[in-house]
Amino acid sequence: MEDVELSPATRLVSLGRMPSAPGEQVGAPLTMSSTYHADGAVSYGRVGNPTWSAFEEALGSLENGDALVFASGMAGVAAALSLVPHGGRVVVPTAAYNGTLATLADRSEAGEVVVTPVDVTDTDAVVGTLEGAAMLWVESPTNPLLDVADVAGLAAAAHERGLLVVVDNTFATPLLQQPLDLGADVVVHSVTKYLSGHSDLLLGATVTGRSEAGRALHERLRRHRQMHGAIAGPMETWLALRGLRTLSVRLERASANARVLADRLEGHAAVERVRYPGFGAMVSIDVAGDAAAAERVAAATRLWVHATSLGGVESQIERRRRQPGEPEAVPDHLLRLSVGIEDVDDLWRDLDAALGTV
Ligand SMILES: *Cc1c(COP(=O)(O)O)cnc(C)c1O
Repeated sequence: MEDVELSPATRLVSLGRMPSAPGEQVGAPLTMSSTYHADGAVSYGRVGNPTWSAFEEALGSLENGDALVFASGMAGVAAALSLVPHGGRVVVPTAAYNGTLATLADRSEAGEVVVTPVDVTDTDAVVGTLEGAAMLWVESPTNPLLDVADVAGLAAAAHERGLLVVVDNTFATPLLQQPLDLGADVVVHSVTKYLSGHSDLLLGATVTGRSEAGRALHERLRRHRQMHGAIAGPMETWLALRGLRTLSVRLERASANARVLADRLEGHAAVERVRYPGFGAMVSIDVAGDAAAAERVAAATRLWVHATSLGGVESQIERRRRQPGEPEAVPDHLLRLSVGIEDVDDLWRDLDAALGTV
């Protein structure tokens, strides 16, 4: 069966397996080998690995492109940013993921790139900054303000002006948004989050389109991975593929929980503002109080894990501005909630009690 005939929930489960044959293993191979017998398709462990290929087959299919697995989300971000020519200008959301902003700031300080921060929800304003730039970096929804961009409109305007368009699709996942179909050239993922889903590993990925231009980008990113050498471990990749199998059921439950919680938080006396894009499993709240009040809430939860990550089966909570690199556009009394797959009423009771400390 052609994979495009199958729905994403099925592809998640069925792709990246060994060919169906009597006696062949059903799961993906976990290949722990630094090198391979000569004259085969893969020569050396920094160049390729069958476990990588299995994961890349499944993820690539979901995004309708060709995936590459990287050692972390930031390794994927760095690979995508390597596509900017020296001195090139990068247009980026003011409050994008803090690691992306930090690496851009470092490269800007070194004179390698010029950075233009924009409000990614204001399409006209973003388009006004594109002329002469090399890359448009989009995150949608953004981390942690959950701003949503018009990806298709921005990509079209960027392409008219010859820019490369990168979309960090970590928050939406390929089940809720396929940026390549909306016109992006490169998709970036922190596989650490929803795709692997169990807070037990770090991994990243890029995905590029199947056009000739897309394949050329794929080759440049693949070469970057091979030459920079910070490659994904086979064990992490195998675990990520194992986690990916259940993405649709995890995301379905987590999204349903998030919808209920966003609704209940609206109008809560201890909540000044609820930020919820209407889809996905991330909700941010501005606490009706100062940073200390927000810290008290995060510290008071018992079920919600007070930690700095997201996308796991367990619900997590964090005041984002406690991270030193977090942009000032993020209110210092904002709590980011990564809603997990627990029972929603248990989650609510715990959160409601913690909000009682405000
Ligand atoms: C976490 C995250 C990253 C970085 O991924 P790591 O796996 O931690 O390196 C990049 N973008 C977004 C939106 C993230 O949330």
